[in-house]
Amino acid sequence: MDWLRLDERGLFCEPAGVWLDPWRPVDRAVITHAHADHARPGNGHYLCTPLTEAVLKARIPKAQTQTLGFGASLKLGPVDVQFFHAGHIPGSAQVRLEYRGEICVFTGDYKVFDDGLSEAFEPVACHRLITECTFGLPVFQWPDPQQVALELLDWVRQNHGVGRASVLSVYSLGKAQRVMHLLRGRVRFWVHWAIDGLNKAYSGAGLELPAYELIRKEGLWDVPTLILCAPSAIKGLRLGTGGVSTAMASGWMGIRGYRKRSGFDRGFVLSDHADWAGLNQAVLWSGAERVDATHGYSEIFARYWRERGKDARVLKTDFEGDGD
Ligand SMILES: [Zn+2]
Ligand SMILES: [Zn+2]
Repeated sequence: MDWLRLDERGLFCEPAGVWLDPWRPVDRAVITHAHADHARPGNGHYLCTPLTEAVLKARIPKAQTQTLGFGASLKLGPVDVQFFHAGHIPGSAQVRLEYRGEICVFTGDYKVFDDGLSEAFEPVACHRLITECTFGLPVFQWPDPQQVALELLDWVRQNHGVGRASVLSVYSLGKAQRVMHLLRGRVRFWVHWAIDGLNKAYSGAGLELPAYELIRKEGLWDVPTLILCAPSAIKGLRLGTGGVSTAMASGWMGIRGYRKRSGFDRGFVLSDHADWAGLNQAVLWSGAERVDATHGYSEIFARYWRERGKDARVLKTDFEGDGD
């Protein structure tokens, strides 16, 4: 299957003349989703899903894009290209490539749990699966998100009771919208402008999100309010005179040492990636004989599947991990 291989710019599908989520500029890129380590600026042309196009244009306004809807198929030379839902963030896709009867699926980032906002992950049968494994260790087991929602609400209400603001650190693209959907109708949301920009891009493309306001300095105290802000923007927040409690929503919050080092008052375990069980489920669903592990704990994950009879290898890519 050397028709899909790594070169210095990314995962190159030679017969189609495209790179998948390339990390150096290429003429033609196929993009799984618009997180910065997957959709980098500088490519000549981006093929992606319509929702990804909307947020990609918010990040890279001059991007030349072409969209391909889920389930539709496109011929790039002799290669058949299709997108399937990845369940990672709204619009995120797995890429299915078929060439001379061989099928390869590149998952991009994914989770197998249906969060009710991103469309649910679709298992795709293939010969070769290139899977991310950001959380590819048995220690990662996600709690029930509805339970996490109750813990979040409790924290916001307790803070509200003593006049403290609740600031939750979330990635602007994906996690912010997921938290809003999860707590819809149960708190008031204030969001940082960077999140507002992406919300507008998403709602302009038809994604329905709860109402929210931009962060203000005053008026925190009448209704329990959750303030959503990207990690990098929290230091710059100016919120009136009351106290502030900070928290982070991330898969990494499942690790005690990480939670302590992060410096947040609270940590909530909420990830848009598959946990250990989810990653393994995806491998089983695919039925692939060959598994390439990338983007995370790839050595351990590949070894685990080699011991179970797969042709499993590590694929060294430049994805950085969204940290979520
Ligand atoms: Zn991502
Ligand atoms: Zn990623």
